[in-house]
Amino acid sequence: MIDYHVHTRLCNHANGTMVQYIQSAIDKGLSEICFLDHLTLNEMGCDLSMGIDDVPLYLYAARRLGDQYKDRITVKAGLEIDFTPMYAETAAAVTERFSFDVIGGSVHFVEAANIVSSKRSKNDTAHPDAAFYEQYLDLVDMMLDYSCFDVICHLDVVKKFGAQPPAEFFDRMEEILTKIKHKDIVLEINTSGLSHPANAVYPDPAILKSCFEKDIPVTFGSDAHRPEQVGRHFDEAVTLLRNAGYRRLTGFSRQNRYEIPI
Ligand SMILES: [Zn+2]
Ligand SMILES: [Zn+2]
Repeated sequence: MIDYHVHTRLCNHANGTMVQYIQSAIDKGLSEICFLDHLTLNEMGCDLSMGIDDVPLYLYAARRLGDQYKDRITVKAGLEIDFTPMYAETAAAVTERFSFDVIGGSVHFVEAANIVSSKRSKNDTAHPDAAFYEQYLDLVDMMLDYSCFDVICHLDVVKKFGAQPPAEFFDRMEEILTKIKHKDIVLEINTSGLSHPANAVYPDPAILKSCFEKDIPVTFGSDAHRPEQVGRHFDEAVTLLRNAGYRRLTGFSRQNRYEIPI
């Protein structure tokens, strides 16, 4: 099994050393771990991310550890880029300058709101209106036009705090999935949602079925922000995936894909 979404202390809101994350993955019997730490250029979230200047050191550290642990586990290096239109070109330039294994794209901000922040959930994310969902999907849609992304992370994270999206959200999601297939992008099964009020993987099992029907490849990530979260809820998620019809995951090496049976 693989975990392609693990953070590090560099993002200022995760605990544990990179070695501890790797050790946790080894203890859980994973064959691969991929660091996918935040690169957020949006000023609302840049204190929750590495800075652009940290990128070379982060990549170097992951590669060194990859070498050090190569007999026990495969260590990959990637970035979780926050998609904010204003900074998209700058972020895309970073992905060209450095040789990562995988680049993930995520939407964390809808206008002035950090939609994944628990602070915000106490205020107004608990019951978002239809326009909010529409704006979120507009950003996801726009993100798909950038060719730098290999993987779309936590596709329906907008449900994180437990609100059920309206029917229109799922209708529009069908269009988004068609575009993901057309653009030949991989979708992440992000198991962190099972630890959130949503209590469901991202994307929802109902969406997963449609992903399989559209033949969209998938990868797996825990979104661990602590070493013990590596590989969380994977047994449950594998069952969901297999029920949807999937029999393989996608891994990445220097942005080239390969298949991993499950
Ligand atoms: Zn994220
Ligand atoms: Zn993440």
